[in-house]
Amino acid sequence: MTTIFKKIIEKEVSAEVVYENESLIVIKDIHPQAPIHLLIIPKKEIANLQAMEKKDLNILQEVALTAQKLAQKFQCEDGYRLLTNNGEKAGQTVFHLHFHFLAGRTLGDLA
Ligand code: AMP
Repeated sequence: MTTIFKKIIEKEVSAEVVYENESLIVIKDIHPQAPIHLLIIPKKEIANLQAMEKKDLNILQEVALTAQKLAQKFQCEDGYRLLTNNGEKAGQTVFHLHFHFLAGRTLGDLA
């Protein structure tokens, strides 16, 4: 099923793009939960972490490297959170694999 993120990747829907390369796009979350709230979205259509296949695991490596670059860019190398919600019960609302990058305040109380 086509999600809003696929439409953003295809430029059918606009978003605030922070970074983009061949395999992923980084946008600002429309409802930020922290001063810096970005979404790292692999372009390949995979519903969530649980649906990932072994052959796609290189995506996780790229997500981690991208998070490091974002931390440098936004000067928050000393404190950020990278998370993915897997499944409705975990709060996943968009079923296209993505990682929340959160920083800019003390994150201890963030779900
Ligand atoms: P999740 O609940 O983990 O699936 O995360 C989905 C995230 O996507 C939420 O934090 C939403 O605020 C965010 N979101 C939904 N639609 C858009 C959009 N059009 N542009 C930017 N962020 C969005």
